[in-house]
Amino acid sequence: MDPALVSCTSCSRTWHSRTMADGLRAIGRCPRCGGDLEWSASTAEAASDTPAPRTDQAPHLVLGVPRLG
Ligand SMILES: [Zn+2]
Repeated sequence: MDPALVSCTSCSRTWHSRTMADGLRAIGRCPRCGGDLEWSASTAEAASDTPAPRTDQAPHLVLGVPRLG
């Protein structure tokens, strides 16, 4: 189990998904209660320039489907 990437300081909700972390970064606050978010150190380091590995997507969605015409 990975440690939480993001946690809410108000309602203690935690998120472990990098995809969710990206969305939360855009929102800037807890979508559940509107509280402040606390970011893990690893998330803060990786956030700037490392794209998240999309292991939840099928290869054909990542690579694209060849267009024949
Ligand atoms: Zn919250």
